[in-house]
Amino acid sequence: MTIAETTVRETGQDFIRDIVRADLASGRHKTIVTRFPPEPNGYLHIGHAKSICLNFGIAEEFGGRCHLRFDDTNPIKEEQEYIEAIKQDVRWLGFDWGEHLYHASDYFEQLYAWAEHLIRAGKAYVDDQTQEEMRATRGTLTEAGTESPYRRRSVAENLDLFRRMRAGEFPNGARVLRAKIDMASGNINLRDPVLYRILHAEHPRTGRAWCIYPSYDFAHGQSDAIEGITHSICTLEFEDHRPLYDWLLDSLPVPSHPHQYEFARLNLTYTVLSKRVLTELVRGGHVTGWDDPRMPTLAGLRRRGVPPTAIRDFVKRIGVAKANSIVDMAMLEFSIREHLNKTARRRMAVLRPLKVVIENYPEGANEEVEALNHPDDPAAGTRRVPFGRELFIEHDDFLENPPKKFFRLAPGREVRLRYAYFITCREVIKNSAGEVTELRCSYDPATKGGNAPDGRKVQATLHWVSAKDSRPAEVRLYNPLFTRPDPNAGSFAADLNSNSLEVLVAVRVEPALFNARAGEAVQFERQGYFCRDSDSTPERLVFNRTVGLRDTWAKVGKSNT
Ligand code: ATP
Ligand code: MG
Repeated sequence: MTIAETTVRETGQDFIRDIVRADLASGRHKTIVTRFPPEPNGYLHIGHAKSICLNFGIAEEFGGRCHLRFDDTNPIKEEQEYIEAIKQDVRWLGFDWGEHLYHASDYFEQLYAWAEHLIRAGKAYVDDQTQEEMRATRGTLTEAGTESPYRRRSVAENLDLFRRMRAGEFPNGARVLRAKIDMASGNINLRDPVLYRILHAEHPRTGRAWCIYPSYDFAHGQSDAIEGITHSICTLEFEDHRPLYDWLLDSLPVPSHPHQYEFARLNLTYTVLSKRVLTELVRGGHVTGWDDPRMPTLAGLRRRGVPPTAIRDFVKRIGVAKANSIVDMAMLEFSIREHLNKTARRRMAVLRPLKVVIENYPEGANEEVEALNHPDDPAAGTRRVPFGRELFIEHDDFLENPPKKFFRLAPGREVRLRYAYFITCREVIKNSAGEVTELRCSYDPATKGGNAPDGRKVQATLHWVSAKDSRPAEVRLYNPLFTRPDPNAGSFAADLNSNSLEVLVAVRVEPALFNARAGEAVQFERQGYFCRDSDSTPERLVFNRTVGLRDTWAKVGKSNT
């Protein structure tokens, strides 16, 4: 799929929505209930956004509801900070769970009762084997597993031991509760999976009330059933868990039997969408935090200046499929540009300044030129930009010996300064190292506003700022975090891009940027889309480049004529 071929779909053209539609039409369900079930062990990434848009989107489109449910069954890895961050990110994407905020931990008492129910039914047993022993007896894809020596324990003994597990009589890892299914099953998930383990740990919500915690598999389906979820949508890794999901719901007196459907997770080139890897990037100091603008987290994308609508459109564009694939990062950037092009105010900033002195401009004179805030949106209005005898232009907009296709400033050549005047380069000043440090130019006062009354043309229009009225700023340019389109998630260190952050410290920005708000996107003309970073102080502005403009070099000569 190329970018040009994609359009943002209207609602409803994927296999899951087809199922939902059919279930409504057949009367199987009157109301659609979905859920987004994050584990609070890290910040959300853009892969989660796909799941959020799918679950909340379906609820919106079909007049149902979507629950936000924290899958908080592993107190060792989970933190309140993550719970708050996840809520913030879901809201930021534009979704609302209303009163339907739940936690797997809300159901711990019920889950425990269901575990006893399984024991009484002879479908679960307490196993004293160590983790290693269990691993060694699980078998392989081609060989059956071996039954545990504890598998034949009586119901009474199992109940007694399980209650004592709950009461805290045993240390971590001493015993587990396992389902009694089939150690020879072709599906390893059915080889007596662990349902409860002992963990003496403080839980963010239940504190020390529990020292045994349900496994993902034991918590997930039953939580869905309690909440009356109609369509339990998850990623393909869980396809092999579905038989267990169904076995548990069939074995327990649950109030409903939801159905699990699997879709392909989002993978993006040049990044890794795995909380484990992202956690390591943060802990290892490879990035400045979960909200580092290079991170594929929603917090990072937000700080970088990506609007949530761009993410939602991106997710619509890529669609929902049943086969895994890798989406090109260019697709995401395309959606971001498309939105920012419509919404971002145009501003002028010079990233790598080169001083220009206009020799025939009166010393001490002050003037303001009128500039459009958005070329396609008259309602965005105009602003006044100070102009003067001393200016900065972009260093790479000048070449002393220009090649054939270089249309910008060169000795003796005339170009337009956007919204201002035509200027001609008269003299090049260099330092002792031979580097160009200043240009002496002249301007044509008759070209005010940027047009010549005699109709003569120039081949380039440059952005600029006044030396006196601009302010210094820092700009952070972001490159991909990884050097390879498919970084090795197992050992990613070798694939890390050591040039993922480029800091420009001598940037000059026009006055309209002095009060830029964090999170508000602006286009630096001819440079890309930027937003003020939260590291900014009143003394020092910092901007992030959200994304570049697609055409930086080739089209310069054609622009703005
Ligand atoms: P990770 O793989 O990053 O560790 P996870 O699956 O462990 O993520 P959860 O908090 O369990 O993270 O995920 C919540 C929901 O988001 C799950 O339903 C999961 O299937 C879905 N999800 C996670 N990663 C992706 C992805 N890359 N694309 C689409 N959905 C995803
Ligand atoms: Mg998970």
